[in-house]
Amino acid sequence: MSSRSHASEPAATPMMAQYLSLKAQVPDCLLFYRMGDFFELFFDDAKAASATLDIALTARGEHQGQPVPMCGVPAHSAEGYLARLIKGGHRVAIADQTETPAQAKARGSKSLVGRAIVRVVTAGTLTEEALLDSRSANWLTAIAPVGGVVGIASADISTGRFELAEIAPAALDAELARLDAAELIAPDSMAEAPAHALPCPAGRFDSAAAERRLKTLFGVATLDGYGGFSRAELAAAGGLISYLDTAGQGSLPFLQPPERRRSGDHMMIDAATRESLELTQASGGGRRGSLLDAIDRTVTGAGARLLAADVGAPLTDRIRIEERLDLVALFERDGGLREAIRGRLKSAPDIGRALGRLVAKRGSPRDLGMLRDGLNEARDLHDRLARIEARPALLDRLLPRLTGHGALTDLLRRALVPAPPIDTAQGGYIAEGYDAALDDLRGQGGEGRRAIAMLEARYREKTGIASLKIRHNGVLGYHIEVSAKHADPLMAADSGFTHRQTLAGVVRFNAPELHEQATRVGQAGAHALAAEAAHLEDLIATALDRTVEIAATAEALARLDVAAGLAERSAEGGWCRPRFEDHNCFEIEGGRHPVVESAVALTGGRFVANDCRLSEDSRLWLITGPNMGGKSTFLRQNALIAVLAQAGSPVPATQARLGLVDQLFSRVGASDNLARGRSTFMVEMVETAAILAQATERSFVILDEVGRGTSTYDGLAIAWAVVEAVHDKNRCRCLFATHYHELTRLAERLDALSLHHVRAREWKGDLVLLHEVARGPADRSYGLAVAKLAGLPPIVLARAKEVLGRLEAGRASTGGLAAGLDDLPLFAAAAVREEAAPDPLRAALDAISPDTLSPREALDLLYRLKAIVAE
Ligand code: ATP
Repeated sequence: MSSRSHASEPAATPMMAQYLSLKAQVPDCLLFYRMGDFFELFFDDAKAASATLDIALTARGEHQGQPVPMCGVPAHSAEGYLARLIKGGHRVAIADQTETPAQAKARGSKSLVGRAIVRVVTAGTLTEEALLDSRSANWLTAIAPVGGVVGIASADISTGRFELAEIAPAALDAELARLDAAELIAPDSMAEAPAHALPCPAGRFDSAAAERRLKTLFGVATLDGYGGFSRAELAAAGGLISYLDTAGQGSLPFLQPPERRRSGDHMMIDAATRESLELTQASGGGRRGSLLDAIDRTVTGAGARLLAADVGAPLTDRIRIEERLDLVALFERDGGLREAIRGRLKSAPDIGRALGRLVAKRGSPRDLGMLRDGLNEARDLHDRLARIEARPALLDRLLPRLTGHGALTDLLRRALVPAPPIDTAQGGYIAEGYDAALDDLRGQGGEGRRAIAMLEARYREKTGIASLKIRHNGVLGYHIEVSAKHADPLMAADSGFTHRQTLAGVVRFNAPELHEQATRVGQAGAHALAAEAAHLEDLIATALDRTVEIAATAEALARLDVAAGLAERSAEGGWCRPRFEDHNCFEIEGGRHPVVESAVALTGGRFVANDCRLSEDSRLWLITGPNMGGKSTFLRQNALIAVLAQAGSPVPATQARLGLVDQLFSRVGASDNLARGRSTFMVEMVETAAILAQATERSFVILDEVGRGTSTYDGLAIAWAVVEAVHDKNRCRCLFATHYHELTRLAERLDALSLHHVRAREWKGDLVLLHEVARGPADRSYGLAVAKLAGLPPIVLARAKEVLGRLEAGRASTGGLAAGLDDLPLFAAAAVREEAAPDPLRAALDAISPDTLSPREALDLLYRLKAIVAE
């Protein structure tokens, strides 16, 4: 941070006028205004930045009679500050000097140094290694509603991936949840844009202009070769590209030709399900505790990014899934091969992101070095893998992508030093022997430096001052330095030395021979730097001629890393390869929950494996049993097994057979979502409504204690009706965990529903949870025993026991849950009300919140209400 004091300047100086006009171009960004070695921020920008960065806020001069708040960061370490501002949700525009002070002066003595916005840095447009998380993708996503559908364009400009898709508005949330974009933009005219989307001028989302732009960008006459895009997809692409144009101030970053995603290609998983299953993020935020964290054994950033994408978007095409599994199986069978491949991948640099920086014109010699080493490694891997006989189809497709860069790697090997630097200012990155003229310049510089060293010895001898030194600094260049007490003889007019500077204690001189040698060194150095820079430019251009091929190699390496990593995880955990069937079954033997299993292992416990056996005529399991018994764990582990299987991964089970799942839903009753501003119960019902509206026969649904968030009768009634609807209407595979034992009566009527429970035993008055799923309903509920385990005060427990006794007596005599309550004064009022109930029509009406209903949901509701009256 700047701790310098700034001289006061009068208001509306030319500099301030320049600042304000730049700021007007980027009103929604913080403006980094370059002044010498610092980037300065003013006014509200300064306040925001000083708060986020925790740096001191100072003031500079006055504007309109008020002091101007200011803070600043050193230009050489701006990256770290940028990262923190971007993380803090800001966007930053960088206004750099476009000429040197000398050039400005040449224009006129009072000319202000010219400045222009050279770049806008936002969360979705980063390429810098230091600013990106190497293990996650960094999506910039644009959405555009056109004619009843929504186009989605997403680009990860750090690797050039570019995807277009078109989806129904109802599926938007799910798709955005999958992408988890670093930055989302939408036309400012979009009525129901997600709250976190940045509104951009609607005119930029123009499909015709976008089509033209894409054709020029990729040099094609038609986009049909990439799949042919809809108007909505093109409109979104238009918005995205024009945003990138603004961010890069005209220089477009790395984009590969767009790939079309069809919504049916992937298992649909909506935002609430992703959250509840903790697929890529744990509920507390971060990766730890997520499924991804539990299975990730990749050794490269690109592999980790691909695995996250795979887990977030499991496939629905059996052939593609089997291909992935075949590759994993190869690495699982051959541990030696797996080790060898992982070892090589580990040492290979992230060529995808190096390429991204080079294309974005932010590349450095080090990025070229990364390409050289990474592409070399890819070729070695190719040679190793090509020796395998009976190769899986996916491997055969990956192999050719690993080679073909020989000419480029040879060139880079000859041209670059082994470890090229990021910073080009000092030169020294072009290898010796690559360019004779450069070697010569370096030779001259070296000779000059040696000559200067010899001069030092000569001057010492000549003056008799043993402590005389020749030094170098940025201001004086080479100079002779002696301590003040020795300076007098050198000051003499005929001494052959010229005085340059006197400081406390030392005096500095120049001399003709030194000047001559210094000029020689300086010129040779400047020429050498220029020669290196010219080579760098050529080398980058040569590398960029192969952009598409290098990106393909990067992806192939990532795929190998994912497969080898999954094989490693599978071998480690004794997992199995899932088998796919053509009917809607879900048969898991010895299934486990990968996250809970490791948590249990950490405390020295043993995870109890459980079977799950759903089929077309036994597709709904109703699971009862004590709290903490393992119901939620069982539900989730099966949902996770479905995700893993279709992502092309082995699964934590001894055997798994399943029919492909088109949509996965997970709902947990009474889960709070205060952040979204809805009551617990409201969230539960909205989410349950979404499942009933969307789940098909091929879907897999887990419902955990639905109905828990309201009064007993209402909750029971809702749970009851939901089970019926899932069974009769959706006909999907479903695991339903509940504490409402009354629901078990449904087994008499619903033929595809079966009853299961998690086992527990009471032993010497204490509860023993066995975590074992068994057939049949739970014999009783163990709420009080669990409450005791949890340490509820004995006096409260005793009272609860008393109340429970009366309730159960009442139920036994009248069959009603609330009977028996009326003689307990505490509950008298509630009991009267509950006994008068339940009117199903009223209950249904009570549950409606008109403000949250879409027209479609309202219509469905009307039909449902009429059906209730008709019953
Ligand atoms: P509640 O009804 O209170 O929500 P629950 O029946 O859903 O409880 P879970 O949350 O699934 O219970 O499990 C509680 C704890 O029991 C887990 O955190 C875990 O420590 C342990 N557990 C669950 N399943 C198993 C298992 N199969 N083997 C070993 N331990 C398990």
